[in-house]
Amino acid sequence: MNEGSPIRLARARFDAVIFDLDGVITRTARQHARAWKRMFDEFLERRSRGEGGRFVPFDIDADYRRYVDGKPRYDGVVGFLRSRGIELPWGDPRDRPAAATVCGLGNRKNELFGEVLDREGAEVFEDAIDLVRALANAGIKTAIVSSSKNCASILRSVGALDLFDVRVDGTHAEALRLHGKPAPDIFLAAAEALNVDPQRAVVVEDALAGVEAGRAGGFGLVVGVDRVGQADALRGHGADVVVSDLGSLQIANGGRTDGH
Ligand SMILES: [Mg+2]
Repeated sequence: MNEGSPIRLARARFDAVIFDLDGVITRTARQHARAWKRMFDEFLERRSRGEGGRFVPFDIDADYRRYVDGKPRYDGVVGFLRSRGIELPWGDPRDRPAAATVCGLGNRKNELFGEVLDREGAEVFEDAIDLVRALANAGIKTAIVSSSKNCASILRSVGALDLFDVRVDGTHAEALRLHGKPAPDIFLAAAEALNVDPQRAVVVEDALAGVEAGRAGGFGLVVGVDRVGQADALRGHGADVVVSDLGSLQIANGGRTDGH
């Protein structure tokens, strides 16, 4: 199926739709990417000065999508560093930001992201909010999942905290010891909390690791949301269909997704 052609979700076939937060509901992907870049560039520059190597900055497009996007924060640190042949001790989640450990670098990224969010606020994709409301009207349950521990505060800041039936975020993931995407754990936990069979649920994701997780979880439909021009990569990682706008998802028998 191609971008642009409407995808119809039938109530008879699906009981629930599970949405990723960042890049699907909220427009925070660029803000995350900038915080990651600043953190890694600080680290890489410091390291090249110390060891006399060449400073090769973090690539905000390629490196972000391949190693970081959608993954739990510390896994993102490990993944990117490994691509540069760098191994750091794991450290401890209480490490001070920028300590030369995986946790320290991850904490520095979180600090920088918090500063960006304070300065700029979060923005939502209105097409996504419209779809969530239309699903509720059609009797299809909804969940929001995020690897981020900031999920609830981000949703609250845009007035969308009560929009979903279920939320599974980074805080729950840690407590339940869920494996991060591309493992399907967080989506399966959402399906369980919604009390629906994954085969009767739809996953909506923008990250490569996220569509991979949806596929691995055996979900009935994995929708890749392409806001940055990576439709082929999303399909390659497990998306059944790719849309560039959530207005392309419509509710069958219920008319258009605007709920009117
Ligand atoms: Mg995402």
